[in-house]
Amino acid sequence: MSPTDSRSVGRCRGRFAPSPTGPLHAGSLVAALASWLDVRAQSGDWLVRIEDVDTPRCVPGAAEHILQQLASCGLLPDEAPMWQSQRGDAYAKSLQKLLVSGHAFPCACTRKDIDDALLARGLPHQRFGERVYPGTCRQGLQGKPARAVRLRAEGVVHWTDRRLGPQQQDVGVQVGDFVLKRADGLWAYQLAVVVDDAAQGITHVVRGEDLADNTARQVLLQRALGVCTPAYLHTPLVLAADGHKLSKQNGAQALDLSSPLQTLKQAAQVLGLPACEAPTVAEALAVWVAAWRFALRLAVGPP
Ligand code: GLU
Repeated sequence: MSPTDSRSVGRCRGRFAPSPTGPLHAGSLVAALASWLDVRAQSGDWLVRIEDVDTPRCVPGAAEHILQQLASCGLLPDEAPMWQSQRGDAYAKSLQKLLVSGHAFPCACTRKDIDDALLARGLPHQRFGERVYPGTCRQGLQGKPARAVRLRAEGVVHWTDRRLGPQQQDVGVQVGDFVLKRADGLWAYQLAVVVDDAAQGITHVVRGEDLADNTARQVLLQRALGVCTPAYLHTPLVLAADGHKLSKQNGAQALDLSSPLQTLKQAAQVLGLPACEAPTVAEALAVWVAAWRFALRLAVGPP
């Protein structure tokens, strides 16, 4: 049965989509565990997708290490992992569709061009370190060579997070036309994640709260491509001792898997799951699946 077939019969499909920039850390395990529990509680399929599209940031061997770490925590995917580095043709096809429909446009701007245009218009320069694109190439390239491809971002997107509640973002104003294909020729995360979630028939996205801000962009892209929008749940972040988000970038320690059960118990605690005295990983996971299922039954609105 193909992923699309399973979705058409209403089966829940979730995924964990790590970027292989290093081994799993405590924060990424929380997202992986939550995604696995959510799918198991709904008797669905759990997939792993290796997001190795940003090749300069990928660390050789990290993907295999992550898969081993997941396996030692009892988190085994139901299908062979998908690797984004092998998905170029699918991304090219979707990009072409967006260009033909007028949702995407080629962009010739360098960073300096964008800064100058923002300055000239007195517009705010950056948001989370990213430039809000001022729309320069929307009307054409003015004879300059194309560097990147962007999505024409228009409209306020409303979406509901299963934990954080109703959200909204005016993507055109707050983010601007965002990149789908980068000037260095690499596929952008936003395009790859939307194309792959649709191709894999993902119905339930569960990931860390640091990614919540991307959701409105992804919803715009889903609408432009005419694909379904999954349900979204963003999990609490694990903070480092200094109060900052724990991430591979700030040197988070790889998980201590000398006792996977203890490590899983810490992740479960972040998710507000009951403390359990189960003696094995399999038994602890079963307790938490039951607790997750119970919480879904109590939930008002989408689980
Ligand atoms: N690859 C992303 C990360 O490791 C996660 C993407 C997603 O779950 O949508 O942060």
